[in-house]
Amino acid sequence: MMALVEVKDLAKTFDVSAPWLNRVVERKPRQFVHAVDGVSFSIAKGRTLALVGESGCGKSTVARLLVGLYTPTRGAVSFDGRDTGATLKSGEARTLRRRMQMIFQDPYASLNPRWKVLDIVGEPLREHGMAEGGDVLRQRVAELLESVGLAAADVHKFPHQFSGGQRQRISIARALATQPEFLVCDEPTSALDVSVQAQVLNIMKDLQRQRGLTYLFISHNLAVVRHVSDDVGVMYLGRLVELSPKQALFAQPRHPYTRMLLDAIPDIKMSGRSRTPVQGEVPNPLNPPSGCSFHPRCPHANERCSRERPALLDFQGIRVACHAVEEGRI
Ligand code: SF4
Repeated sequence: MMALVEVKDLAKTFDVSAPWLNRVVERKPRQFVHAVDGVSFSIAKGRTLALVGESGCGKSTVARLLVGLYTPTRGAVSFDGRDTGATLKSGEARTLRRRMQMIFQDPYASLNPRWKVLDIVGEPLREHGMAEGGDVLRQRVAELLESVGLAAADVHKFPHQFSGGQRQRISIARALATQPEFLVCDEPTSALDVSVQAQVLNIMKDLQRQRGLTYLFISHNLAVVRHVSDDVGVMYLGRLVELSPKQALFAQPRHPYTRMLLDAIPDIKMSGRSRTPVQGEVPNPLNPPSGCSFHPRCPHANERCSRERPALLDFQGIRVACHAVEEGRI
């Protein structure tokens, strides 16, 4: 299957140094955070890759790098076979922006409260010259609203007249306005009640089937990921530690961190298996641990783990970065 999106050795470093004068007075060096550090993956057309991990693992930074909101410090992203960094600087930037869109976590923050739905969903259509004239625009916006389960008459309402789940549907309608092929969804349902989450996720899955959409889905919630993804990448402190087809990951998680995350989710089959809360805390990214950055929390860590960073190795289509897996210890 052809990859629509390909990410190679992607890295993003943020300069989080104190202001120059403070550094001089307090004799502090510059400080950098490696938010994303050498991440590679690809997403085939029509598939969903979910990136999971605790907050601060770099998954949202990857999302923003993919749509060009951040410039990579190293590495590259290609879309439909072309480097996105180069395309965004060329005359074809508009076309690329039309082909990939992003949905954010908080629909309240991303929808202008003073605009009617007609303007919110219609803006990208106007911007890309995809609907000239008031009637055509209204018709297109009404169709988009109906495609996400809202009513055509909702065009005249304001965001505050909708529930949280409905507002997220408006965001999805807006993202779909330009007929994109690739959607980057950053925790799109995390702000919603569990029952509403399922409705929104089902709409997203239906739209994917109908339109052949490709998704990058960012979430900290493995139960949500299980519902929507084809493949799953588990991130820890800026790196991928496991990248696997969904079934394999849930049936037999390899990396100790993936196991820890899975042990913490409620047992869906109600088999009586007890939950183990996630142990320990994510280390300070300003001062990450040596070797495998998971070693202070890992029950299988040994001396090699604290010294040598494990590479992401392929085990029959499942990629894992762990010395213990490589050595056959676990
Ligand atoms: Fe644990 Fe070592 Fe594997 Fe890291 S490399 S996850 S510390 S066993």
